[in-house]
Amino acid sequence: MSKRHAAPNTPAKQDDILPQHLFRQAVEQAALAISITDARANILYANAAFQRITGYAHGEIVGHNESVLSYRVTPKLVYETLWAQIQRQRPWNGLLVNKRKDGSRYLADVTITPVVGEAGLTTHYLGMQRDVTEVHRLERQVQNQKTLIESVVDAAQVAIVLLDEKERVLLDNQEYKKLIGDLGKEPAVKILAALRGQMGDAFKKARDKHRNMAAREVCIETAKKPPRWFSCAVSWFEEHDVGADAFYEPLRRHYLLLTIQDISELKRQQEALRINSLRALLAEQERIQGLRETLAGAVYQLEGPLNMLSAAANMLGRRLSSQPHAQGGAESIPASALGEAIQKSREALEMLRAGIPNERSEALQPIDLNEVLADVLKLTTGSLLGAGIVVEWVAADKPALVSGHLAQLSNLFKQLVSNAIEAVNERRGGKRELRIVCTAHADHIEVFVEDSGPGIPEELRYKVFQPFFTTKGATKQHLGLGLAMAQEVVTCHGGTIDIDPGFHTGCRVRVQLPLAMGGNHV
Ligand code: FAD
Repeated sequence: MSKRHAAPNTPAKQDDILPQHLFRQAVEQAALAISITDARANILYANAAFQRITGYAHGEIVGHNESVLSYRVTPKLVYETLWAQIQRQRPWNGLLVNKRKDGSRYLADVTITPVVGEAGLTTHYLGMQRDVTEVHRLERQVQNQKTLIESVVDAAQVAIVLLDEKERVLLDNQEYKKLIGDLGKEPAVKILAALRGQMGDAFKKARDKHRNMAAREVCIETAKKPPRWFSCAVSWFEEHDVGADAFYEPLRRHYLLLTIQDISELKRQQEALRINSLRALLAEQERIQGLRETLAGAVYQLEGPLNMLSAAANMLGRRLSSQPHAQGGAESIPASALGEAIQKSREALEMLRAGIPNERSEALQPIDLNEVLADVLKLTTGSLLGAGIVVEWVAADKPALVSGHLAQLSNLFKQLVSNAIEAVNERRGGKRELRIVCTAHADHIEVFVEDSGPGIPEELRYKVFQPFFTTKGATKQHLGLGLAMAQEVVTCHGGTIDIDPGFHTGCRVRVQLPLAMGGNHV
């Protein structure tokens, strides 16, 4: 025969373990406000905590309906739901606005549980409540602050976005939403990728150490519109994990706050200003160059006849000294007068030579030929458009750095582009093309300027670099010094310039300049 065990929850057994009065003591001393009502919510019992919260003594509240606590602002629907629920013998929980004996209000978190008798009918209700006024006040305060912060962030004129460590957007403002419209999804990810590309390892280090980054300018290329420029700042802040797991062992989460300010317009203005000052600088250089060419031309033109005159005077002098008594004709001119005239002419020529203005002295600096060529194309856009020339511009895939003089190099390439435009204009019909290719090699930078003009005949390929040589006949515009100047600039930069003999569909000028010390890392 097996040993019989009584069911653990039988009243007899329960009483053995927990005496009846213990239940009453436990309820009486509980920190939670507890009341027991009949089936119509008339209070039969209220514990000490209930009396503390409501201000009613036990004798004052017993016999009254729970509705005595109602402040009469809780919507009727709440009570209807409460009763519908408990009458189905299900517990109800909700918030009710109650008033104490002294008339002061409090927010009660109330749980009502039906007590079902043996007949299956609800005989009583057990009410439990907590004063949650302070919790509610704090929640509202947090909510209000959140709303305030969101309104301020939304009204800000810069795009603001909050990302988690995996760069997922958690919060953004109106300006940021506008950026989504302009740049597509997700602007923050594109900007962070641009920063990463621009800063390399420094970005990773700053990110790993959650270091803030002040205003950094990045450029984002867009498919159809001009590139956009943004000034961005990254700030990190940490939050303690609010999960239960982290209650005793705090976990920290890091968030990235990215502020993005569109500075495209500012950049455009700066760029226009830069191009205008470059234009002014080159115009000044051109003026000086023109003066140099004119005076050098005059000196060159005068030097020939003067040399001939000197030679003739020398001959005459020698003849006179061999025939000391000869008289009459040209030989009658005193040799001293002729010598004086020649001397005066030489002095005048020297004055002219001294009047030739010097080249502007410029400091040597690392110069990216990609940028110089792009600027030259911007400066000549008007002429290129006017001539209907199709331009193909292939920049080097990395900075094409040479050590040089900015104005001289800009002038050099401007000269080559101007020559190309003139050459294309000379040709009637056919292709009208200009192609500029810049390539960075291991130790030098190579630039090709190709045009679809008539080209330069084989026999003239070296002559065109000589001063005063022109294929166009020396006119005011064409003294034939352009390519000579180009050669002078290239030589002074330690490079070479030549005309590609293998190019037969126009003219291809090749310029090679040594790579700046430190190469592409400058
Ligand atoms: P009432 O006329 O009392 O009731 C409003 C609506 O509630 C009615 O239209 C009806 O749909 C429903 N209702 C009321 N009594 C009954 C009933 N006996 N049977 C079926 N439906 C009914 N209220 C508070 O404001 N604060 C409390 O802290 C609170 N604690 C409670 C604790 C317990 C254990 C119980 C059972 C009820 C409690 N109530 C409490 C509800 C309270 O009894 C009232 O229903 C409520 O206060 C509304 O009172 P009233 O006089 O405005 O309207």
